[in-house]
This record gives sequence, C-alpha cells and structure tokens, in this order.
Amino acid sequence: MSRKVLVIGEARDGVLRNVTFEAIAAAKQVGSGGEVVAVICGEGDLNSLAEEMIFYGADKVKVVQHSKLKTYTSEGYSQAVTEIIEQESPEAIIMGHTAIGKDLTPKLAGRMESGLISDATNIEISGENVVFTRPIYSGKAFEKKIVTDGVLFATIRPNNIPPLEKDSSRTGEISTVDIEIDDLRTVITDVIKKAADGVDLSEAKVIIAGGRGVKSKEGFEPLEELAEVLGGAVGASRGACDADYCDYSLQIGQTGKVVTPDLYIACGISGAIQHLAGMSNSKVIVAINKDPEANIFNVADYGIVGDLFEVIPQLIEEIKQLKV
Ligand code: FAD
Repeated sequence: MSRKVLVIGEARDGVLRNVTFEAIAAAKQVGSGGEVVAVICGEGDLNSLAEEMIFYGADKVKVVQHSKLKTYTSEGYSQAVTEIIEQESPEAIIMGHTAIGKDLTPKLAGRMESGLISDATNIEISGENVVFTRPIYSGKAFEKKIVTDGVLFATIRPNNIPPLEKDSSRTGEISTVDIEIDDLRTVITDVIKKAADGVDLSEAKVIIAGGRGVKSKEGFEPLEELAEVLGGAVGASRGACDADYCDYSLQIGQTGKVVTPDLYIACGISGAIQHLAGMSNSKVIVAINKDPEANIFNVADYGIVGDLFEVIPQLIEEIKQLKV
C-alpha cells in the first residue's frame, strides 16, 4: 500500500541536518512508492536546501520563508507545518528525533489528534503495516509498534536509518508557500552557543567521550586531538560534567544526549547504567579504563586496560601513521 509522506526538514546555520536525509530515506520506505513531500521552514533563501532534499529523494519540497521562522520556536514552526499538513493531507509524517523534533512533533500530533511513535531506530514493512522499532527502558529493550488508525506519525533517531545516495540529477517541484504567522508569544532575540563549533554530537559518526578519569579540563585535550584526527566529536559522562571538566551540553546518557555513532571511544568512564542508556546502541564501542573490572567493559567490543593519558597519545600516533 503506497502512502503520501511528509518529511519535516531541519537546518542549522543554513545547513540541512543529516537526519533530514535519513528521514527522507525512512519516508521512502514508509511511503512504499507514494509521494514524498518535504517541508523546510526558515528565513531568507532556502531554495538550495530544498534542492538538496530533492537530491536525497524528496519528490516535492514546500518552502516556508518568514521572518518569524528565522529561529525555531514551537509556536511559529507548528503554525507553519500545520498549514502544510492541511494543504498536503499526508498519510504519514516523519521527522528526526532531535531537540526540535522532540518539541515540535508532540504538539503537531496533539493538534491532529494523532498518535506519535517517537525515537524509532528501525522500520520494516509487514503486509499493509509499517512496523517501527524503538528502544524502551533507557535502551535495555526494544518494542515494535504499528499504527492502526489515523496518520502515521514518527520521529527517527539520528544515525540509524541510512540516507539514500545523493543524486544531483534528480529533479522535483519546489514551491514557496506564503503563510501568515500570528504574533509569537515567545521571541528568540539571541542564540548563545555553548558547545564549540565542529561535528554535531548527536549526529557524529565518531565520538570520543571522557569521564571523571580525565581528571581536569586540560585532561580533555588529548580526547579533542583524537576526535580531530578521526573527524569526530567529543562527548562526556555526567561525572565529567559535574566535576566541571566540560560543559553539560556534552553529556551523554539518560539525562543527556542519546547517541548512536559508528564508533564510541569511552575514556575514563566507569559505565554507570545512566551513561550506558545514552550510548550502548553505538555500533562499535571501545573502552579505555585503568580498572579491568569497570562495567564499561561489559558493553565494549574492544577494551584497553590502561591509563588513558598513555593510551590516547599512542592511538593518535598510530592513526596519523595510517593516514600518511
Ligand atoms: P566514575 O564512575 O567516577 O568513573 C571514572 C572511571 O575512570 C573509573 O572507572 C576509573 O577506573 C577510570 N579512570 C580513572 N583514571 C583513569 C585513567 N587515568 N585512565 C583510564 N581510566 C581511568 N551519568 C552519565 O554519564 N550520563 C547521564 O545522563 C546520567 N544521568 C543520571 C541520572 C540520574 C538520575 C542519576 C542518579 C545519575 C546519572 N548519571 C549519569 C551519573 C552516573 O550514575 C555516574 O555517576 C556517572 O556516569 C559516572 O561518571 P564517570 O564514569 O565519568 O565517573
């Protein structure tokens, strides 16, 4: 059964987030040959972003440009996307399970009196049904869900559903939609970035995470260097954040970010259950810890028992040699 699917795109600093392409791939699967319509909201010229979405598989893109959409607000974006939903009447809606996705989609689902499957990590088609897999109990188990009534609305976890290959020869309809946005009760006047520029932690393919074993702010420097040679991002345990070795925006775990990189290197992290909740679904886990009994070794694919300040510089050297 084919379905018309709407993908809610997301851009940051004028660049589409990778999860938008993953959502388009998911929409293709859910749509089973049906039309994939994408929407992108913002201020100024968004046509290059719209084209990019076509190259990654969207059939049609709706561009909503408005000064009140310059920065995300749930009020402004929900008005804009609701209008597109009314115009397009999709049978399914997909978005990334990002900070914005987590904020926007429940609001839209509530307005539509629809259900919402959040944080899906896999999609399968079984007869007429779309079966979504999602983690429960902080990633200790998975459940499978189907939607039996109404619009099929889901958010997908970044880094789990591979995007389609970019095809720059693809063409599709791009149209700008004029939408009246009511005066917003919340106006963002300034955005102050806490995290350093670089690879976005929630979408990073490689994460080097430091724990209390890093011992100081300066102790993060070798981790930053390793992240740089591997083209990855730096993350942290709450232990490291609580000790003020790094900013809370780097925290991974139950009360931090949930990540699924291809490679997660845990350095001086004991492996508390709350930390595992945020990273145990990473594809390959490497642990560096001087305590051979540390719990992190129970989830690691590769374990290095040793002092991180000796191991990491050697790793950096070896990787640099491989690159020569
Ligand atoms: P520790 O447990 O102190 O471990 C440090 C490790 O470093 C040790 O294993 C030690 O052997 C090793 N080490 C020390 N020196 C070196 C060295 N030179 N070389 C190599 N290894 C070394 N935690 C999170 O991470 N994320 C969360 O989201 C989170 N949410 C929480 C929510 C709740 C409600 C609660 C109660 C707790 C939460 N925690 C969370 C905290 C969690 O329980 C742990 O306290 C925390 O993860 C411990 O951080 P750590 O592993 O860095 O520190």
